[in-house]
Amino acid sequence: MNMEEEKRGSINRREWLCRAGLIAGASQLSLPSAMAQAESPAAPKPLDLSQYEPKSMLRVRESHVDRAKFSLIDIHTHISVSTKSQAGVELAPDRQYLGTPQELLGVMERKNIRAMVNLTGGYEKGLAETVVKYDRAFPGRFYTFAEPSYSRFKETEYAKLQAQAIEQAHRDGARGLKILKTLGLYLRENITSGTLVKIDDSRFDPMWDACGQRNLPVAIHVSDPIAFFTPTDRFNERYEELNNHPDWSFYGGDFPSNDELLAARNRVMARHPKTQFIVLHVGNFAEDLQNVSDNLDRFPNMFVDIAARIGELGRQPRTARKFFDKHQDRILFGTDATPHGDDYPQQVFNNKLYEIYFRFLESDDEYFDYAPAKIPPQGRWKIYGINLPDSILSKVYYENAARVLRI
Ligand SMILES: [Zn+2]
Repeated sequence: MNMEEEKRGSINRREWLCRAGLIAGASQLSLPSAMAQAESPAAPKPLDLSQYEPKSMLRVRESHVDRAKFSLIDIHTHISVSTKSQAGVELAPDRQYLGTPQELLGVMERKNIRAMVNLTGGYEKGLAETVVKYDRAFPGRFYTFAEPSYSRFKETEYAKLQAQAIEQAHRDGARGLKILKTLGLYLRENITSGTLVKIDDSRFDPMWDACGQRNLPVAIHVSDPIAFFTPTDRFNERYEELNNHPDWSFYGGDFPSNDELLAARNRVMARHPKTQFIVLHVGNFAEDLQNVSDNLDRFPNMFVDIAARIGELGRQPRTARKFFDKHQDRILFGTDATPHGDDYPQQVFNNKLYEIYFRFLESDDEYFDYAPAKIPPQGRWKIYGINLPDSILSKVYYENAARVLRI
């Protein structure tokens, strides 16, 4: 149908509907009032999915957990970010700061947050500056992780240089290393072009070992929700999220599958048993806790955080609770909190976000929102609390992270 035909078609259809009294407002003009009354309430209007905000009619208890029961460490936050990146690869050490220590400390005091770990501290002078601005200015309240410098990736000595960079980062005060999904999904042989570099590429072996030798845990993010690897269509349970952020899809192209990414990550953990890995976002497979559990059994050097995945954990509360029981010494509290990250309500740093995490961990409330948002941002469902006992809660909130960070 060309534009003109389409226009004509729609006018004709509208005229027909008017005559039949099927368009709201038209009925009184053309039909006897008794018939209009019978027809108008039943006529359903199409509703754009983005406009749908159903209010639950369920009457169940609502706990307000204003403050965490135990002082906690948020192992996964982003207080500083790179100022320059291209095709998913950070290319400059300079940092942009998303929140001042003072404004963060206000929320931290109210919510019982002992410390925030800023994973994206960068490298070289950007890293050193971040440590001075937060960690050194407020000892015990902020810890900064370093990131690899990928801009030198093409240098023949890269493997050695990057291992040395870890030693320098340690001297500059970094408390760990963060690997974004740059490695595995964005970094290419010519940095931003060519074939994708694999997570277990041997050029990074000296880096992993240097982290182990310096007792720097590696916080590693290698994949994404499984729905991001399937077509963005009507069967996709994260359709709205992918529709809002089409660049988050790893379906098609030359992207490896989720299985391939996790297998490469596992080979790295197997090859470097003396290095501790915090596998972020529930081991990057919160939809399959059996898989995560099996990997935790296989790799004693593996830990997980729960950042930005209470939506997944909370929709399978019984399985999640068993997972916490079994792996209570290896699960770390984290949120992915980003100051002023309003576009991503599941990780925006504010009071409400933390209250939802506390409610999930501490209450047995049913059917509540996993993010402070009008529409659930990561899929149209709600969650259930898992009501952890104090003995597990204190480990997840603080003790496990303190052990990994050697506080
Ligand atoms: Zn993150």
